[in-house]
Amino acid sequence: MLMEDYTTLGFDISPVHTSRLNDVDFDNLAFGKVFSDHMFVMDFADGKWQRGEVSAFGPMTFSPAMMSLHYGQAIFEGMKAFRQPDGSVSLFRPGANIKRFNFSARRMSMPEVPEDVFMQALVEMLKLDQGWVPSKADSALYIRPFMFATEAHVGVRPSQRYRFCIFTCPVGAYYTKAVRVKVEQHFTRAAHGGTGAAKAAGNYAGSLYPTELAKSEGYDQILWTDASTHTAVEECGTMNVAFVIDGKMVVPKTSDTVLSGVTRASAIHLMQHEGIDVEERRVTVQELVDAAEAGSLTEAFGLGTAATVSPICTLGLPGKDWDLPDFATWTVAPTVKKSLDGVRYGTGEDPFGWNIPV
Ligand SMILES: *Cc1c(COP(=O)(O)O)cnc(C)c1O
Repeated sequence: MLMEDYTTLGFDISPVHTSRLNDVDFDNLAFGKVFSDHMFVMDFADGKWQRGEVSAFGPMTFSPAMMSLHYGQAIFEGMKAFRQPDGSVSLFRPGANIKRFNFSARRMSMPEVPEDVFMQALVEMLKLDQGWVPSKADSALYIRPFMFATEAHVGVRPSQRYRFCIFTCPVGAYYTKAVRVKVEQHFTRAAHGGTGAAKAAGNYAGSLYPTELAKSEGYDQILWTDASTHTAVEECGTMNVAFVIDGKMVVPKTSDTVLSGVTRASAIHLMQHEGIDVEERRVTVQELVDAAEAGSLTEAFGLGTAATVSPICTLGLPGKDWDLPDFATWTVAPTVKKSLDGVRYGTGEDPFGWNIPV
Protein backbone atom coordinates (compact mmCIF):
# COMPACT_ATOMS: atom_id res chain seq x y z
CA MET A 1 0.00 0.00 0.00
CA LEU A 2 1.27 3.48 -0.82
CA MET A 3 2.35 5.92 1.87
CA GLU A 4 0.27 8.62 0.16
CA ASP A 5 -2.81 6.77 1.34
CA TYR A 6 -2.11 7.89 4.88
CA THR A 7 -0.97 11.45 4.55
CA THR A 8 -4.37 13.00 5.18
CA LEU A 9 -4.73 11.31 8.56
CA GLY A 10 -3.77 12.62 11.95
CA PHE A 11 -1.38 9.80 12.79
CA ASP A 12 2.22 9.01 11.94
CA ILE A 13 2.34 5.75 10.03
CA SER A 14 5.55 3.74 10.00
CA PRO A 15 4.80 0.46 8.21
CA VAL A 16 7.12 -2.47 8.88
CA HIS A 17 9.71 -3.18 6.20
CA THR A 18 9.19 -6.92 6.33
CA SER A 19 5.88 -8.48 7.34
CA ARG A 20 5.89 -11.51 9.67
CA LEU A 21 2.75 -12.77 7.94
CA ASN A 22 4.51 -15.57 6.08
CA ASP A 23 5.79 -17.07 9.35
CA VAL A 24 2.27 -17.62 10.68
CA ASP A 25 0.56 -21.00 10.59
CA PHE A 26 -3.06 -19.94 10.09
CA ASP A 27 -4.21 -23.54 10.52
CA ASN A 28 -2.97 -23.66 14.12
CA LEU A 29 -3.60 -20.31 15.75
CA ALA A 30 -3.32 -20.39 19.53
CA PHE A 31 -5.65 -17.72 20.99
CA GLY A 32 -3.80 -14.52 21.88
CA LYS A 33 -0.29 -15.70 21.07
CA VAL A 34 0.20 -14.46 17.54
CA PHE A 35 0.40 -10.69 17.06
CA SER A 36 -0.06 -8.85 13.78
CA ASP A 37 2.70 -6.63 12.34
CA HIS A 38 1.51 -3.29 13.70
CA MET A 39 0.29 -1.60 16.84
CA PHE A 40 -1.21 1.81 17.52
CA VAL A 41 0.21 3.97 20.31
CA MET A 42 -1.03 7.35 21.49
CA ASP A 43 0.10 9.08 24.68
CA PHE A 44 -1.79 11.45 26.96
CA ALA A 45 0.38 14.14 28.53
CA ASP A 46 0.10 17.82 29.47
CA GLY A 47 -3.65 17.43 29.75
CA LYS A 48 -4.20 16.29 26.16
CA TRP A 49 -3.78 13.46 23.68
CA GLN A 50 -0.58 13.66 21.66
CA ARG A 51 -0.20 12.58 18.01
CA GLY A 52 -0.74 8.84 17.60
CA GLU A 53 1.51 6.47 15.73
CA VAL A 54 1.06 3.17 13.95
CA SER A 55 4.34 1.24 13.98
CA ALA A 56 5.80 -2.25 14.37
CA PHE A 57 4.38 -4.36 17.22
CA GLY A 58 7.15 -4.66 19.77
CA PRO A 59 8.43 -4.06 23.30
CA MET A 60 8.04 -0.78 25.19
CA THR A 61 10.21 0.71 27.92
CA PHE A 62 8.84 2.15 31.17
CA SER A 63 9.90 3.42 34.56
CA PRO A 64 9.58 0.91 37.42
CA ALA A 65 7.56 3.66 39.12
CA MET A 66 4.94 3.64 36.35
CA MET A 67 1.68 4.16 38.22
CA SER A 68 -0.40 1.44 36.52
CA LEU A 69 1.98 -1.15 37.99
CA HIS A 70 1.32 0.10 41.51
CA TYR A 71 -2.21 1.49 41.63
CA GLY A 72 -3.84 -0.40 38.79
CA GLN A 73 -5.22 2.25 36.45
CA ALA A 74 -5.50 -0.06 33.44
CA ILE A 75 -8.48 -0.86 31.22
CA PHE A 76 -9.03 -2.81 28.02
CA GLU A 77 -11.51 -3.83 25.34
CA GLY A 78 -11.97 -6.91 23.19
CA MET A 79 -13.55 -6.83 19.76
CA LYS A 80 -13.20 -8.60 16.40
CA ALA A 81 -12.87 -7.98 12.68
CA PHE A 82 -14.22 -10.55 10.26
CA ARG A 83 -13.38 -11.53 6.69
CA GLN A 84 -16.44 -11.08 4.44
CA PRO A 85 -17.44 -13.36 1.56
CA ASP A 86 -16.21 -10.75 -0.97
CA GLY A 87 -12.79 -10.65 0.69
CA SER A 88 -13.34 -7.31 2.44
CA VAL A 89 -13.07 -6.81 6.22
CA SER A 90 -15.78 -5.71 8.65
CA LEU A 91 -15.89 -4.73 12.31
CA PHE A 92 -18.77 -5.87 14.51
CA ARG A 93 -20.36 -2.96 16.42
CA PRO A 94 -17.08 -1.10 17.07
CA GLY A 95 -19.00 1.92 18.38
CA ALA A 96 -20.32 -0.15 21.30
CA ASN A 97 -16.77 -1.12 22.34
CA ILE A 98 -15.53 2.45 21.99
CA LYS A 99 -18.35 3.74 24.21
CA ARG A 100 -17.69 1.04 26.80
CA PHE A 101 -13.97 1.81 26.76
CA ASN A 102 -14.73 5.41 27.65
CA PHE A 103 -17.18 4.28 30.34
CA SER A 104 -14.35 2.20 31.85
CA ALA A 105 -11.99 5.18 31.52
CA ARG A 106 -14.36 7.46 33.46
CA ARG A 107 -14.79 4.88 36.23
CA MET A 108 -11.02 4.58 36.62
CA SER A 109 -10.38 8.36 36.46
CA MET A 110 -8.61 8.05 33.12
CA PRO A 111 -8.99 10.35 30.10
CA GLU A 112 -11.53 9.35 27.45
CA VAL A 113 -10.29 8.66 23.93
CA PRO A 114 -12.27 10.76 21.41
CA GLU A 115 -14.57 8.36 19.55
CA ASP A 116 -13.51 9.52 16.08
CA VAL A 117 -9.81 9.18 16.92
CA PHE A 118 -10.39 5.67 18.30
CA MET A 119 -12.34 4.64 15.18
CA GLN A 120 -9.73 6.14 12.88
CA ALA A 121 -6.99 4.26 14.73
CA LEU A 122 -8.90 0.99 14.25
CA VAL A 123 -9.33 1.66 10.54
CA GLU A 124 -5.62 2.54 10.10
CA MET A 125 -4.54 -0.63 11.88
CA LEU A 126 -6.88 -2.77 9.82
CA LYS A 127 -5.80 -1.18 6.54
CA LEU A 128 -2.16 -1.98 7.25
CA ASP A 129 -2.80 -5.43 8.73
CA GLN A 130 -5.74 -6.55 6.59
CA GLY A 131 -3.70 -9.55 5.47
CA TRP A 132 -3.79 -10.76 9.07
CA VAL A 133 -7.58 -11.17 9.10
CA PRO A 134 -8.00 -14.94 8.69
CA SER A 135 -10.43 -16.28 6.13
CA LYS A 136 -11.02 -19.80 7.49
CA ALA A 137 -14.42 -20.63 8.97
CA ASP A 138 -14.93 -19.44 12.57
CA SER A 139 -11.71 -17.44 12.60
CA ALA A 140 -11.33 -13.68 13.09
CA LEU A 141 -8.92 -10.91 13.96
CA TYR A 142 -9.16 -10.24 17.69
CA ILE A 143 -8.58 -6.57 18.50
CA ARG A 144 -7.23 -5.48 21.87
CA PRO A 145 -7.45 -1.75 22.65
CA PHE A 146 -6.12 -0.84 26.11
CA MET A 147 -4.95 2.08 28.21
CA PHE A 148 -2.74 2.31 31.27
CA ALA A 149 -1.22 4.97 33.53
CA THR A 150 2.39 5.75 32.59
CA GLU A 151 3.42 8.53 34.94
CA ALA A 152 6.40 7.65 37.17
CA HIS A 153 5.12 8.62 40.60
CA VAL A 154 4.79 6.99 44.02
CA GLY A 155 1.61 8.08 45.80
CA VAL A 156 -2.04 7.29 45.20
CA ARG A 157 -3.85 9.73 42.90
CA PRO A 158 -4.84 9.62 39.22
CA SER A 159 -1.83 9.51 36.92
CA GLN A 160 -1.15 12.56 34.76
CA ARG A 161 0.14 10.45 31.87
CA TYR A 162 -1.46 7.55 30.00
CA ARG A 163 -0.78 5.36 27.00
CA PHE A 164 -3.57 4.16 24.69
CA CYS A 165 -2.64 1.20 22.46
CA ILE A 166 -4.26 -1.21 20.07
CA PHE A 167 -2.81 -4.48 18.84
CA THR A 168 -4.47 -7.37 17.04
CA CYS A 169 -4.24 -11.17 17.02
CA PRO A 170 -5.49 -13.52 14.32
CA VAL A 171 -7.54 -16.21 16.09
CA GLY A 172 -8.92 -19.51 14.91
CA ALA A 173 -12.13 -21.25 15.98
CA TYR A 174 -12.48 -21.06 19.76
CA TYR A 175 -12.73 -24.56 21.12
CA THR A 176 -16.13 -24.60 22.82
CA LYS A 177 -16.27 -27.77 24.86
CA ALA A 178 -19.18 -27.48 27.30
CA VAL A 179 -17.93 -26.19 30.66
CA ARG A 180 -18.59 -27.33 34.23
CA VAL A 181 -19.23 -24.23 36.34
CA LYS A 182 -19.01 -23.81 40.08
CA VAL A 183 -21.75 -21.61 41.53
CA GLU A 184 -19.51 -19.35 43.63
CA GLN A 185 -20.98 -18.59 47.05
CA HIS A 186 -17.96 -17.24 48.86
CA PHE A 187 -15.73 -15.15 46.59
CA THR A 188 -17.02 -12.09 44.75
CA ARG A 189 -16.20 -10.64 41.33
CA ALA A 190 -18.07 -7.37 41.68
CA ALA A 191 -19.92 -5.47 44.42
CA HIS A 192 -22.41 -2.59 44.21
CA GLY A 193 -20.47 0.62 43.84
CA GLY A 194 -17.38 -1.25 42.68
CA THR A 195 -15.71 -1.56 39.29
CA GLY A 196 -17.40 -4.73 37.99
CA ALA A 197 -19.14 -3.01 35.08
CA ALA A 198 -15.84 -1.59 33.81
CA LYS A 199 -13.28 -3.63 31.86
CA ALA A 200 -10.64 -2.78 34.44
CA ALA A 201 -7.56 -5.02 34.55
CA GLY A 202 -7.72 -5.52 38.32
CA ASN A 203 -11.14 -7.20 38.10
CA TYR A 204 -9.53 -10.10 36.28
CA ALA A 205 -6.63 -10.39 38.71
CA GLY A 206 -9.11 -10.75 41.58
CA SER A 207 -10.97 -13.56 39.82
CA LEU A 208 -7.92 -15.76 39.23
CA TYR A 209 -7.57 -17.28 42.70
CA PRO A 210 -11.25 -18.31 43.08
CA THR A 211 -11.11 -19.73 39.54
CA GLU A 212 -7.98 -21.76 40.35
CA LEU A 213 -9.76 -23.13 43.43
CA ALA A 214 -12.79 -24.06 41.33
CA LYS A 215 -10.48 -25.85 38.87
CA SER A 216 -8.87 -27.81 41.71
CA GLU A 217 -12.40 -28.94 42.62
CA GLY A 218 -13.00 -30.28 39.10
CA TYR A 219 -14.78 -27.31 37.51
CA ASP A 220 -13.73 -25.24 34.48
CA GLN A 221 -15.18 -21.88 35.36
CA ILE A 222 -17.08 -19.88 37.97
CA LEU A 223 -20.71 -18.81 37.90
CA TRP A 224 -20.52 -15.57 39.87
CA THR A 225 -23.33 -14.62 42.24
CA ASP A 226 -24.17 -11.27 43.85
CA ALA A 227 -21.71 -10.09 46.50
CA SER A 228 -24.17 -9.43 49.33
CA THR A 229 -26.37 -12.55 49.34
CA HIS A 230 -24.79 -14.98 46.82
CA THR A 231 -28.32 -15.91 45.76
CA ALA A 232 -28.55 -14.21 42.34
CA VAL A 233 -26.51 -15.30 39.31
CA GLU A 234 -24.50 -12.56 37.59
CA GLU A 235 -21.83 -13.72 35.13
CA CYS A 236 -19.92 -16.81 34.05
CA GLY A 237 -16.15 -16.37 34.25
CA THR A 238 -15.44 -13.34 32.09
CA MET A 239 -18.59 -13.77 30.04
CA ASN A 240 -22.21 -12.82 30.45
CA VAL A 241 -24.57 -15.72 30.98
CA ALA A 242 -27.98 -16.80 29.68
CA PHE A 243 -30.35 -19.65 30.48
CA VAL A 244 -33.30 -21.27 28.78
CA ILE A 245 -36.08 -21.95 31.28
CA ASP A 246 -39.50 -23.18 30.11
CA GLY A 247 -38.50 -22.30 26.55
CA LYS A 248 -37.71 -18.66 27.41
CA MET A 249 -34.25 -17.14 27.17
CA VAL A 250 -33.57 -15.70 30.63
CA VAL A 251 -30.64 -13.28 31.06
CA PRO A 252 -29.42 -11.62 34.26
CA LYS A 253 -30.05 -7.85 34.05
CA THR A 254 -27.02 -5.61 33.65
CA SER A 255 -26.10 -3.46 36.65
CA ASP A 256 -22.96 -2.05 38.21
CA THR A 257 -21.98 -5.65 39.00
CA VAL A 258 -22.80 -7.18 35.60
CA LEU A 259 -20.71 -5.99 32.68
CA SER A 260 -22.77 -4.88 29.71
CA GLY A 261 -21.52 -7.26 27.02
CA VAL A 262 -21.87 -6.48 23.33
CA THR A 263 -22.42 -10.19 22.62
CA ARG A 264 -25.13 -10.36 25.32
CA ALA A 265 -26.97 -7.27 24.01
CA SER A 266 -26.67 -8.46 20.41
CA ALA A 267 -27.92 -11.96 21.25
CA ILE A 268 -30.96 -10.51 23.04
CA HIS A 269 -31.86 -8.26 20.08
CA LEU A 270 -31.38 -11.02 17.52
CA MET A 271 -33.43 -13.56 19.50
CA GLN A 272 -36.27 -11.07 20.00
CA HIS A 273 -36.07 -10.40 16.25
CA GLU A 274 -36.46 -14.15 15.68
CA GLY A 275 -39.53 -14.23 17.91
CA ILE A 276 -37.94 -15.95 20.89
CA ASP A 277 -39.16 -14.73 24.33
CA VAL A 278 -36.33 -13.03 26.23
CA GLU A 279 -36.49 -11.95 29.87
CA GLU A 280 -33.83 -9.68 31.38
CA ARG A 281 -34.22 -9.91 35.12
CA ARG A 282 -32.82 -11.16 38.42
CA VAL A 283 -32.06 -14.89 38.13
CA THR A 284 -31.65 -16.80 41.38
CA VAL A 285 -29.58 -19.89 42.08
CA GLN A 286 -32.65 -21.49 43.70
CA GLU A 287 -34.72 -20.93 40.57
CA LEU A 288 -32.03 -22.63 38.46
CA VAL A 289 -31.90 -25.59 40.85
CA ASP A 290 -35.70 -25.90 40.88
CA ALA A 291 -35.82 -25.69 37.09
CA ALA A 292 -32.98 -28.22 36.76
CA GLU A 293 -34.88 -30.59 39.07
CA ALA A 294 -38.12 -30.11 37.13
CA GLY A 295 -36.33 -30.58 33.80
CA SER A 296 -37.31 -27.10 32.61
CA LEU A 297 -33.75 -25.72 32.62
CA THR A 298 -32.81 -26.84 29.13
CA GLU A 299 -29.81 -24.65 28.23
CA ALA A 300 -27.17 -22.50 29.94
CA PHE A 301 -24.39 -20.64 28.15
CA GLY A 302 -21.82 -17.89 28.40
CA LEU A 303 -21.82 -14.98 25.92
CA GLY A 304 -18.69 -13.01 25.01
CA THR A 305 -16.58 -11.80 22.10
CA ALA A 306 -13.81 -14.41 22.39
CA ALA A 307 -15.91 -17.62 22.39
CA THR A 308 -19.27 -16.10 21.26
CA VAL A 309 -21.38 -18.87 22.85
CA SER A 310 -19.88 -21.14 25.49
CA PRO A 311 -22.22 -23.99 26.51
CA ILE A 312 -22.45 -24.98 30.18
CA CYS A 313 -22.95 -28.69 30.89
CA THR A 314 -22.93 -28.69 34.70
CA LEU A 315 -23.89 -26.33 37.54
CA GLY A 316 -21.88 -27.19 40.65
CA LEU A 317 -23.45 -26.50 44.06
CA PRO A 318 -22.25 -27.64 47.47
CA GLY A 319 -22.97 -31.36 47.67
CA LYS A 320 -24.62 -31.69 44.27
CA ASP A 321 -23.86 -31.10 40.61
CA TRP A 322 -26.77 -30.43 38.28
CA ASP A 323 -26.26 -31.63 34.71
CA LEU A 324 -27.94 -29.94 31.78
CA PRO A 325 -29.50 -31.89 28.91
CA ASP A 326 -27.19 -32.97 26.10
CA PHE A 327 -26.09 -30.09 23.84
CA ALA A 328 -27.53 -31.92 20.82
CA THR A 329 -31.04 -31.15 22.16
CA TRP A 330 -30.42 -27.38 22.52
CA THR A 331 -32.12 -24.90 20.21
CA VAL A 332 -31.56 -21.35 21.53
CA ALA A 333 -27.76 -21.31 21.97
CA PRO A 334 -27.16 -22.66 18.44
CA THR A 335 -29.61 -20.06 17.07
CA VAL A 336 -27.75 -17.28 18.89
CA LYS A 337 -24.44 -18.48 17.46
CA LYS A 338 -25.83 -18.88 13.95
CA SER A 339 -27.51 -15.44 13.92
CA LEU A 340 -24.48 -13.64 15.35
CA ASP A 341 -22.13 -15.37 12.92
CA GLY A 342 -24.45 -14.57 10.02
CA VAL A 343 -24.11 -10.87 10.79
CA ARG A 344 -20.39 -10.90 11.58
CA TYR A 345 -19.23 -13.04 8.65
CA GLY A 346 -21.62 -11.33 6.25
CA THR A 347 -23.32 -14.63 5.39
CA GLY A 348 -26.69 -13.88 6.95
CA GLU A 349 -29.11 -11.09 7.68
CA ASP A 350 -27.84 -7.95 9.48
CA PRO A 351 -31.21 -6.53 10.56
CA PHE A 352 -29.73 -3.79 12.75
CA GLY A 353 -26.78 -2.68 10.56
CA TRP A 354 -24.11 -3.84 13.02
CA ASN A 355 -21.52 -4.95 10.49
CA ILE A 356 -19.24 -1.98 9.73
CA PRO A 357 -17.00 -2.32 6.63
CA VAL A 358 -13.51 -0.84 7.03
C1 LIG B 1 -15.70 -8.51 28.22
C2 LIG B 1 -16.60 -9.10 29.26
C3 LIG B 1 -17.86 -9.63 28.94
C4 LIG B 1 -18.35 -9.82 27.53
O1 LIG B 1 -18.43 -8.66 26.79
P1 LIG B 1 -18.47 -8.73 25.19
O2 LIG B 1 -18.63 -7.31 24.81
O3 LIG B 1 -19.63 -9.55 24.82
O4 LIG B 1 -17.20 -9.35 24.75
C5 LIG B 1 -18.66 -10.06 29.97
N1 LIG B 1 -18.26 -10.00 31.25
C6 LIG B 1 -17.04 -9.53 31.59
C7 LIG B 1 -16.66 -9.49 33.02
C8 LIG B 1 -16.19 -9.06 30.60
O5 LIG B 1 -14.99 -8.60 30.93
